[in-house]
Amino acid sequence: MEDQTRSIVEQSLNALLENETFLSDLQGEMRNKAFTSLNAILSTPNQIHKSFLRVPLEGGEVVRIPSYRVHHNDALGPYKGGIRFHESVNEEEVVNLAFLMTLKNALHNVPFGGGKGGIVINPKVYSEKELNRICIKYVRYFNDIIGPEKDIPAPDVGSGEREMDWMMAEYKKINPGKPYHGSFTGKSVVNGGSLGRREATGKGVYFTFRYLLNDYVKRNAINLSSSTNPFAQTALGYLDRPLTSAVQGFGNVGSVTALEAFRCPHIQNKVVAVSDRNVTLYNPDGLDIPALVDFTAKNRGDLPTTAEQLNAVNVTAEIQSRETILTMDVDVLFLAALENQLNDANKSLVKARMIVEGANAPTTQEADEYLSKNGVIIIPDILANAGGVIVSYLEWLQGRETQFLTEEQVYNQLLGQMGATLDMILPQYFGDPFPLRQNCYIHSVTRLSTVLYRQGKLY
Ligand code: NAD
Repeated sequence: MEDQTRSIVEQSLNALLENETFLSDLQGEMRNKAFTSLNAILSTPNQIHKSFLRVPLEGGEVVRIPSYRVHHNDALGPYKGGIRFHESVNEEEVVNLAFLMTLKNALHNVPFGGGKGGIVINPKVYSEKELNRICIKYVRYFNDIIGPEKDIPAPDVGSGEREMDWMMAEYKKINPGKPYHGSFTGKSVVNGGSLGRREATGKGVYFTFRYLLNDYVKRNAINLSSSTNPFAQTALGYLDRPLTSAVQGFGNVGSVTALEAFRCPHIQNKVVAVSDRNVTLYNPDGLDIPALVDFTAKNRGDLPTTAEQLNAVNVTAEIQSRETILTMDVDVLFLAALENQLNDANKSLVKARMIVEGANAPTTQEADEYLSKNGVIIIPDILANAGGVIVSYLEWLQGRETQFLTEEQVYNQLLGQMGATLDMILPQYFGDPFPLRQNCYIHSVTRLSTVLYRQGKLY
């Protein structure tokens, strides 16, 4: 996956090199050297920090837990990115996720750089007290490199507002007298978190899909119907008819995305399948998403896995294996779990013609190329899942000013920003037959390159 991000950045830089109006004061050999430098800067993280947290467990033994904080690039502002709690976390993954954060912030004009963290644990096997100790240790080990003006972590897979509250409390304790509200985002509202932050990513994911189809394509249907662009033809086939959706992952991002689809007043969108780390639940007549959200809230985030559990919450569904969701016969597939879910092995079995990446990097390069060549619309991660970081920025601002926005103000700003990015990207996408991911990368790389050049970073 890392190679995919690198190669698209390289392609974007090659396209900019040919564009003589871009950085036009750079000519000839100077220009070639500047572009080689840009490639080196953008494809390499500034720093990789790794620590082995020493954590005493409740049973008396002491464990060492590998953990990371990666600083990719801070040309646009302090580093920003989540902390993933998952057993599969590794250095390469954290570096790539930090890289995607740099590109995402640049695309949506958020004044933050790209960072990411990870702790190599399955959080479900630790007690609350042990998780609290792990969070405290993470802050102690990385205290020198984080802070409101340096690097602002947030939740990611396996972490949430509880962990951010604990981490901010530890940061406050070991940095007496310093500002601390902006040290972490994704905190609970009582601890200075923003209203709407928990729902922001999922809401934004659904919004990008809905805006592309129901606003942009619908508004431009007459012009697009004479276009030979394969993505325009795919989108037109989705207009003005009931749709079916499947949502992989039912955590913070997936559950809110599913609820948005379930309640969507603009498009008749039946959520026929959802899945998590254990199961896929399927009902061709549509699932009762609010009942499933209630169930997961009471069961450590897991969906029902037995007929008894389904009966107890009055939900009708077939229980299938967790992978079946990816190749289901649905119109829209929302990916909100982990990376590399659509890959070489299952790419030819995917039936959805619209895929929305709520997760980071859920589609491998092979699958991406194959599906895009077949006219499948893939709304990429850096475009679709930026709601979290956009509202994190609002939370950070609110922490500095200690003035708080209402939920309505937060959503208006969130959707206004995402709409503005879509308006910038979509005309080109439905004009040139390049995948949406490539279009987004070109915009991000253009912004970053201009800033790096003006900051004198190419000498
Ligand atoms: P989460 O921990 O709340 O939920 C993850 C979900 O994925 C859970 O339902 C879990 O059971 C499921 N899952 C785990 N392993 C799985 C597997 N092997 N197969 C299928 N499902 C599996 O995490 P989240 O915050 O919802 O994040 C999901 C994705 O969205 C990640 O890629 C994350 O980087 C990305 N993301 C999250 C945010 C945010 O604000 N939380 C922002 C941007 C991007």
